Amino acid sequence: MLTTKQTVLAVVTLCTGIAFAIQVPTSDQISIASNDRSDVLPGFGGAGDEPRAYRPDTSSLDFVYHNHEDMTRYLRATTARYPNLTALYSIGKSVQGRELWVMVVSASPYEHMLGKPDVKYIGNIHGNEAVGRELLLHMIQYLITSYTTDPYIKWLLDNTRIHILPSLNPDGYAASKEGTCDGGQGRYNSRGFDLNRNFPDYFKQNNKRSQPETEAVKEWINKIQFVLSGSLHGGALVASYPYDNTPNAMFNSYVSQPSLTPDDDVFKHLSLTYANNHAKMSRGVACKSASPSFENGITNGAAWYPLTGGMQDYNYIWHGCMEVTLEVSCCKFPPAYELRKYWDDNQLSMIKFLAEAHRGVQGFVMDPNGGPIERAQLKIKGRDVGFSTTKYGEFWRILMPGVYKLEVFADGFVPRDVDFMVVEQHPTLLNVTMQPSKRNDGPYYRPVQQPAQSQYRPQIAAPGGLPSNSINGSPADEGILSTLSNGFNSLVNNIFG
Ligand SMILES: [Zn+2]
Repeated sequence: MLTTKQTVLAVVTLCTGIAFAIQVPTSDQISIASNDRSDVLPGFGGAGDEPRAYRPDTSSLDFVYHNHEDMTRYLRATTARYPNLTALYSIGKSVQGRELWVMVVSASPYEHMLGKPDVKYIGNIHGNEAVGRELLLHMIQYLITSYTTDPYIKWLLDNTRIHILPSLNPDGYAASKEGTCDGGQGRYNSRGFDLNRNFPDYFKQNNKRSQPETEAVKEWINKIQFVLSGSLHGGALVASYPYDNTPNAMFNSYVSQPSLTPDDDVFKHLSLTYANNHAKMSRGVACKSASPSFENGITNGAAWYPLTGGMQDYNYIWHGCMEVTLEVSCCKFPPAYELRKYWDDNQLSMIKFLAEAHRGVQGFVMDPNGGPIERAQLKIKGRDVGFSTTKYGEFWRILMPGVYKLEVFADGFVPRDVDFMVVEQHPTLLNVTMQPSKRNDGPYYRPVQQPAQSQYRPQIAAPGGLPSNSINGSPADEGILSTLSNGFNSLVNNIFG
């Protein structure tokens, strides 16, 4: 059990208007995330507001397919023209030596903004699914040209670093053909590997040889702690959320069973955010008579069809990044004259989805001197997929409104539980100060068992060897109900007491 000392230290939501007092060593460099910019942006009502109508800037970027050289030229020209809003970097090279370009679009393109989330979009992991690749180029154009004219986009870029990787599989794209709606030509990388089956898997041993494109993504998301991600595909019209794999797929070859995460409420919400802001997706109309239809335009990945080695499960389990697979076109590589329509259908979804990074809880984990604690292990009680702090001690977790308990562990510190509440519209800012476990020796000190790291840094599980409490049920529901009164009491005590 925890002592009262270990309960909430500081819980402040932005809507209260209470100053956010935090101790960090470099206070002169800090700007704290504020998502309620209605005070500084006339006419802007906060994160729940809508972007303005946007007219695509076709003089800078036309609705045609861009091969790797065209794409590279566009990205270079854009970053030269908008140096204050964009930065271009490469996370590595494809098998055939093409750069895996990432464009950051943000008010702070070159540096992580303390306390503000990094998010990403990845397109074209399947080389012949080409719509997402072009949508991402147009999204770059949309963001940079709307920054000064649309308060919503300004808010988004002032408070978020958006990393856009238009093509993870440029070699596959080069082998694909415009107008080919189905089939596998160009789907794989140039060595014939399906990159969305090439990641370590939580449920089953993945024996596929890791590819340079996959390695580049793994390194990338190990370096930058992404909070939210969308992976754009084609061949269906649906938002598909983790898990993609399941421990028991072999026994359900005819009817796939859902394989739900402990954050199922969040993943459903993220998927619905995309589907509901899309021109058609939420209608759930099947692409063809033989294809499945998806209620409200969303599906659990494994319920659609289970797969091993997918990117979204890896993002979530290994890095706490909530990734959703966005299938944006029935035809994988439609003729270019249809691209404008796809952009119109998807542009609002793409923006509103990213804005969801500003929902839930965020904050810092610090030592008693206000120094950041890096790689502290965090977990929302009842949701046994963990996440960790950045080198600045920051953390983020997308959560729906409710009352929660955050469990924090760090080497050399006494573990802590912190109750907090999440409301609609405003993220909860939460600072956690950890006490060193050795210096606290005294009459009231009881050593607390430090949980094994493996509990929060998942290992590849052998089939059937899954931790029993990791994936079953929706523990959050009972958690909210049973801790509602306790959680609320300590919340009130600690804001006002
Ligand atoms: Zn795909």
